Amino acid sequence: MEKLPDVAALARQLGQGTEPGAAEPPAWFADPNRPYWNMDAELKLEEFATLRGQERAWARLRRTIRDVYDASPYWRQRLDEAGVVPEAVRTPTDYARMVPLFDKEAHRQSQEDSLAAHGHALGLHLRVPLDQLRLICATSGTTGNPTYYIYDANGLMGSNEVYARALWRTGVRPGMRVLHGFALSMFAAGVPVVHALNYMGACAIPVGAEAGTERLLLQASLLKPEVLTCTPSYAEYLIEKAPQVTGREIGAFGFKILIVGGEPGGSIPEVRKKLGEAFGAKVYDMQGPAMSCDANEGFHMSSMGGSWYELLDPDTKELRPIEDGATGEWVTTSLSAAKGVAPVLRMAVGDLYQLFTEPCACGKTGWRYRIVGRVDDMLKVKGVMVYPAAITKVVQAHYPRLTGFYRIVLDEPPPRVVPPLRLKVEYGESEAGRLEALRNELEDAMHNALKIRPEIEWLAPGSLDRSVHKTQVFEKAYLEK
Ligand SMILES: [Zn+2]
Repeated sequence: MEKLPDVAALARQLGQGTEPGAAEPPAWFADPNRPYWNMDAELKLEEFATLRGQERAWARLRRTIRDVYDASPYWRQRLDEAGVVPEAVRTPTDYARMVPLFDKEAHRQSQEDSLAAHGHALGLHLRVPLDQLRLICATSGTTGNPTYYIYDANGLMGSNEVYARALWRTGVRPGMRVLHGFALSMFAAGVPVVHALNYMGACAIPVGAEAGTERLLLQASLLKPEVLTCTPSYAEYLIEKAPQVTGREIGAFGFKILIVGGEPGGSIPEVRKKLGEAFGAKVYDMQGPAMSCDANEGFHMSSMGGSWYELLDPDTKELRPIEDGATGEWVTTSLSAAKGVAPVLRMAVGDLYQLFTEPCACGKTGWRYRIVGRVDDMLKVKGVMVYPAAITKVVQAHYPRLTGFYRIVLDEPPPRVVPPLRLKVEYGESEAGRLEALRNELEDAMHNALKIRPEIEWLAPGSLDRSVHKTQVFEKAYLEK
């Protein structure tokens, strides 16, 4: 185990994680084998899930609504337009029914209006002067302008703290070298993760997916990093590419920890197994600052005390009860939103989660969730709702008989699909001679998982683009008509 570098200096930086402004680190901080980055905060996560914890969070949220109303002209206008007086929001159901969602459309509109009004696209909900900002990240918007996420010094500290908690749970420790292979420019897990690695005393090697495979592999062989972060499809691509570019298998590079994210894959047992065996590393799946665990029972939320959470029916937007196994559209409100650079009530990015509130087999704290799909990606095939994430799961479960790469061909704009749903699927090398049997088997597996029977067109292994960013599963044939 690496020795901690300058523990006292690191702890002074911690600030938000322990007592603010604490000069001396707490005793547990010197122990590199401790289970949590922040023993104080992460052991308390369970309290949040109790009735008392929830009541306390609700009381804080009620104050937050008033504070946001007072602090943000944007929200004052939105709530006024909706006829909402903060004090009239008396129950969680009131909150869900009365306060409008800040969904992708609202976010886009706020950015567009701010471009017209202020000459920048950071959003009307931006609360502080531009010179307070320290970092601007953008999602890789597949259509139109990107969506911005903005940090001031405090926000960056908060981000560092929650990412450090997630990274520590995988075994990342001070002094370790971490090769960063996520896209640095267009991804919230890009530069913010680099900042968090510095914050926790690890050494970031920010190569990024943009640099290309050869450069990444070169850095890996010259610098011997212990940890790699990238998308799961990029990690799979590196398995193929490493011997061609360097003459060595990826397993010979010495990675101990592989952290994947940005697209589905890292939580699918077959993909985890494939990556783990090829890299000779432990594999974890990351979604924002939530991390999968050794039991692979979903993403652990290691910072949940600071937010209010809602699960909604994706069609009616009605509130669903939060309980173990419940599914719905995930909506969050930071309880310190009013102090943020760009306050947001009811942030809805369009993720459908299944939530687990019971203790995890891995023994670590925090609620967990699995991603069911994205509200935007939902397809309706003869009234049956189908999510690409579910198709990905079936395809990847058939590795190595399928390569794991496929596309959904859309002949008209989603969500409506006239059956059959068309899939282009790459078969594995070994299967070239027995595609008919494989087709029947795959169609049955899809029917079991999705309740629909897609039409499968075979592609030779390697024919689809291997994305270094995020794999786009839709082939929009209707655009070419
Ligand atoms: Zn767990």
